[in-house]
Amino acid sequence: MASVACSLVLGRGFSCANTLTRPPIACLRLSRAVSCKMRNRHLSSQQKRQQFKRAPTEQLSLNMNAQSHDNIGCEAEEASSAGASHSSQITIPSNDAESDSNSETDVAVSSFEETNMIENNDEQEHPSIRLEDLIAMIRNAEKTRVYALEELDKILSEKEALQAEINNLEMKLAETDARIKVAAQEKINVELLENQLKKLKTEISSRNSIEEGKHGTLDDESPLVLELNDLRKENALLKDDIQMLKLKVADVSKTEERLPSLEKRHSLLEASLMELQSQLSNAQDNVSRLASLRYECKALSDKVENLQALFNDASIVMDQPSLGLQQYHELQKKVDKIEALVTEATVSKFPSENFQHYDETLREKIELSEKRLWESDQEIHSQIQLFQESVREFHDSLERLKEESKKRSQELSLENLPQEFWSRLLLIIDGWLLEKKISVNDAKMLREMTWKKDARIRDAYLASRSKSEHEKLATFLKLTYSRTSPGMHIIHIAAEMAPVAKVGGLGDVISGLGKALQRKGHMVEIVLPKYDCMQYDLIADMKALDVVVESYFDGRLFSNKIWVGTIEGLPVYFIEPHHPAKFFWRGKYYGEHDDFKRFSFFSRAAVELLYQAGKKPDIIHCHDWQTAFVAPLYWDIYAAKGFNSARICFTCHNFEYQGTAPASELVSCGLDVHQLNRPDRMQDHSAQDKVNAVKGAIVFSNIVTTVSPTYAQEVRTIEGGRGLHETLKSHSKKFVGILNGIDTDAWNPSTDNYISVQYSADDLQGKAENKDAIRKRLKLSRSEGSQPLVGCITRLVPQKGVHLIRHAIYCALELGGQFVLLGSSPVPHIQREFEDIANHFQSHSHIRLLLKYDDALSHLIYAASDMFIIPSMFEPCGLTQMIAMRYGSVPIVRKTGGLNDSVFDVDDNTIPEQYQNGFTFVAPDEQGLSSAMERAFQHYIRSPESWQQLVQKDMRLDFSWDSSASQYEELYERSVARARAAARV
Ligand code: ADP
Repeated sequence: MASVACSLVLGRGFSCANTLTRPPIACLRLSRAVSCKMRNRHLSSQQKRQQFKRAPTEQLSLNMNAQSHDNIGCEAEEASSAGASHSSQITIPSNDAESDSNSETDVAVSSFEETNMIENNDEQEHPSIRLEDLIAMIRNAEKTRVYALEELDKILSEKEALQAEINNLEMKLAETDARIKVAAQEKINVELLENQLKKLKTEISSRNSIEEGKHGTLDDESPLVLELNDLRKENALLKDDIQMLKLKVADVSKTEERLPSLEKRHSLLEASLMELQSQLSNAQDNVSRLASLRYECKALSDKVENLQALFNDASIVMDQPSLGLQQYHELQKKVDKIEALVTEATVSKFPSENFQHYDETLREKIELSEKRLWESDQEIHSQIQLFQESVREFHDSLERLKEESKKRSQELSLENLPQEFWSRLLLIIDGWLLEKKISVNDAKMLREMTWKKDARIRDAYLASRSKSEHEKLATFLKLTYSRTSPGMHIIHIAAEMAPVAKVGGLGDVISGLGKALQRKGHMVEIVLPKYDCMQYDLIADMKALDVVVESYFDGRLFSNKIWVGTIEGLPVYFIEPHHPAKFFWRGKYYGEHDDFKRFSFFSRAAVELLYQAGKKPDIIHCHDWQTAFVAPLYWDIYAAKGFNSARICFTCHNFEYQGTAPASELVSCGLDVHQLNRPDRMQDHSAQDKVNAVKGAIVFSNIVTTVSPTYAQEVRTIEGGRGLHETLKSHSKKFVGILNGIDTDAWNPSTDNYISVQYSADDLQGKAENKDAIRKRLKLSRSEGSQPLVGCITRLVPQKGVHLIRHAIYCALELGGQFVLLGSSPVPHIQREFEDIANHFQSHSHIRLLLKYDDALSHLIYAASDMFIIPSMFEPCGLTQMIAMRYGSVPIVRKTGGLNDSVFDVDDNTIPEQYQNGFTFVAPDEQGLSSAMERAFQHYIRSPESWQQLVQKDMRLDFSWDSSASQYEELYERSVARARAAARV
């Protein structure tokens, strides 16, 4: 700015640099004083004129400043701070300033020049003039100049005084102008008022004449009469309006009278609605029971067969008493014989006393044995009666069972179906065969089932009646598939697997679901990265295969060492890449800067392994963004190579983590970024040059699932979908939510080796002992056995409601409980915050925070705690609430995602009692959590017996993988059958 100000002045050509090397002090002082004043004032044209007269002096001073660097800063600052006044200064036309020759300054300067001229003339006339004289002359000239400048100062201050006066006068002038304006306005107003007055006067006189006219004749056409008529009409209209309003008021009051009856009807309707809802839920229950009915039916007929066998056994047993009877008769015969012999002996009068004695004892014995025989006879008879009764009962129950079974099979009404139904089915099957939509073998099998009136083919037909030809075909082929196949070949590709490589719930799902599917008769295999930080001691028979699988990455092939081993009975392949970046040699699972590269490499290598191993899986199931690349890789690269037997299932365990990266990074694993970086494929919603791995898997998979039905709904919304809601909506047909289960072998309090004392729902003593053990271990107060202990085991991330977890600690303390937290955070500031809390409560007798990951300790906390807190902001499924219940710790949760599908409030009367298992709250705030905790504490303290029943009920709930695995099985089968159907169409 300083240079700008100076150059502007220099540009005007008023430089004195050629004549003076330093500015005179007075000149500087003057210029600064003048320029400051100018900045502070709003100048009138007159002032401007005065200023222009001074301009050469100011400009001179500014030029001096431009020469003196020391002064630049000061001037520049002032120049910039007073930009506006300076600009007005700069825009002043310089010509005006130059042309004004009447300036006082100029007078002083000209007198100096005159003196100089005289002196110069003298010098010419007297060339021998002395130096001292010259100096004296210059001094004189200087004095004159100083005098002139002082004069100038005076004149300027006078001018300022004058200027103040002028300003004053100008203000007064402006005031006077304003007053004149007001006066003129008032005059106009007065005129207007006068006009109005006149008008009013004429109006009054005309009204008077109307009044007078009332007594005389009225002119109908007169404007007043017309106006009057108008007024009357208006009046009439108003009356009508009032009438209408009255009617409306009456209506309203009638409605008000009807209100109570309407309310009554409303409440009746609500009651019937509730009833209908409960009927609906009953009906839904019945529908779900119907599926199991068939199995029950089969079980019943098995029972009938068993009972029949029992009956046969019973008949054999019944024969035994009759054998006894036969023996009795034989004995009787013997007795008779002996009696005859005795009689004979008596008749022959054998006179022997001994013999007589013998005879008497014999008689006694005979009497005794007769008596015994009679008694046993009685006993046998009563036993036979009992047998007969039980046989009758057995027959009755057999009949009952038969009837029940008959009734149930009638419900399924196979026989009730007309022959026409079966014939139509046969024709459909034949049609498909002729159209070559099904193979001869499939047709044979389906016809056989139809011929035998198999309930499954009837169900398949009824279920697919309204569906497309393609879907119908898939449903029927599924029947032949399940009849011929010993099970499916399912391969999970994942980044975690419990217990060897677990970060969260994903690890539990891989082993839990894998084992459940294996139990159902499927061939299950798992592919994992070979991390350096895995728990190798939990892998059985681990060994490296004598093979190297080469996989593509970044334009070349890299070797991968393949390891195999079993984890809890599941066969697992581990991939160890020989890549210089040592992708899985980092001492941790996730959170590396190159995670996108690490896992896209792994996905490619995993599919390559399956391809090179010549596997022909039915299902490849990938999980979360880390292995989401498998879906596009499979369909884009490997299907074209003929590796296409499988359907791809993708499960997203948490939509918060989607695996996004610059589009260019996708190229590394061999995917075609130009084809895939499109809004309907892998392009991320946030930027056009970003790709999204989860989006790719949703688009390219045949089945897409998430981990609970409620979460599946939540992610279809803008807030829940994290940018993927539209993608999920457009692929909604293949998207479903299946609630996770838990591994009930790993989480079983009656066999758990980690806990201090094993226990079960039938014997809760062990639970109390575990509570005491953990209090002792963590140095918590043990004085009150009944003091409730609240547990919390979690990753400390915002999703889990960390602010509410913090609140829960204080709330538990306030309510008189104890609190144990086990968790760690990948987010540094959260970890720090909890470290502070942990330190604060370091030696507190009721609170303990353990900020680490510790699987063994987690078992102890589940077993020891009475309540378990999960205040998540969102929760895709959540396993901890299920594990907690299995260990008899009652969950207190926020109603969201999978928590909403597995925890039902004990105080919610709309929920059937058998499902009530915990405490829930909706609002994600401290108030909501506090009130749920208060209710739980009250229940615990006031009703210990009912609390114990709740604990036992929770422990007996079935959260095993069985039913969830069946749902996955169903999805897989349907997808495989559909693919087979599509291959034939
Ligand atoms: P998420 O997968 O979101 O972490 P889940 O509730 O689905 O949450 O699964 C959490 C699993 O991780 C549970 O088995 C739980 O016991 C375990 N877990 C979480 N934090 C810890 C920890 N600090 N120490 C030991 N186990 C933990």
